[in-house]
Amino acid sequence: MDHLYIKDLEIMAKHGVFPEEKALGQKFLVSVDCAYDMKTAAKDNALESSVHYGILCAEIHRLLTENTYDLIETCAYVIVEHIFSHYRYVCEVSVSIKKPFAPIGLPLRYPEVCITRKKRTAWIALGSNMGERKELLAEAIKAMQEAGLVVKKESSLYETKAWGKTDQPDFLNQVIEIETFEEPEDLLLLLQKIERDMGRVRHEHWGPRPIDLDILMIDSLVLYSDTLKVPHPYMEERAFVLDPLSEIAPYLIHPVLHQQIRQLQKALKEK
Ligand code: ATP
Ligand code: CA
Ligand code: CA
Repeated sequence: MDHLYIKDLEIMAKHGVFPEEKALGQKFLVSVDCAYDMKTAAKDNALESSVHYGILCAEIHRLLTENTYDLIETCAYVIVEHIFSHYRYVCEVSVSIKKPFAPIGLPLRYPEVCITRKKRTAWIALGSNMGERKELLAEAIKAMQEAGLVVKKESSLYETKAWGKTDQPDFLNQVIEIETFEEPEDLLLLLQKIERDMGRVRHEHWGPRPIDLDILMIDSLVLYSDTLKVPHPYMEERAFVLDPLSEIAPYLIHPVLHQQIRQLQKALKEK
């Protein structure tokens, strides 16, 4: 992948936990590494598909001088967020911030934080079987967009009988494809917050719920922790997942079963 580097952009700003840092300000050095495909920009001399480093430096300067943050971690994160939301073709970003005059009473060259984020594609299953189900699905998608997830594709809605625990109302299911720079665990936390905000209370497993948001896949990652399993367990056994997923990503390959979604869907139908 091609890279654009900005090294040690000097900015006078007022970040830090001490009152004198917020009043007097000090020098910060910002470095950025943006990875994106430079082919189009190089071939067509196209400014809109490249990162104009002069403009980006001015934007970073504005971001760090218009606000005051306690932590340089926050400063770095604000820049990462800005780059992903304004330069859509950037697929990986590292931002580092040095604070050479950090008031710690000991000599050092500088403390430095570095945040790296990668753009990922994820597929999210939505389900609802309480209240105004269609509106709840739309509300969940809106909340995801407001939280910074970029919705690339939406399947149609599928009405299905409850699975696992069958003595409950029918579900309305949907799958969407999103782009995000959140790390997988952070994506899960973000979805769980939306579930809670929309009135989800966890009592019985597989019980009725206004909204359920499951991460089906994230790129071709395979994760298996106590809190997060990706690809989602049972997805190959669930028509209410495979039907909508196959509608928007038929050729996507399940990274454990090594089969396309449309093949898994066909196999399940023939069971
Ligand atoms: P199922 O996961 O079988 O569809 P469910 O959606 O009813 O059942 P929940 O009560 O919503 O289950 O979630 C139980 C736990 O599953 C959550 O606390 C979460 O940590 C964990 N989990 C593991 N992997 C995933 C994933 N890929 N997406 C969402 N939650 C997950
Ligand atoms: Ca579920
Ligand atoms: Ca769930």
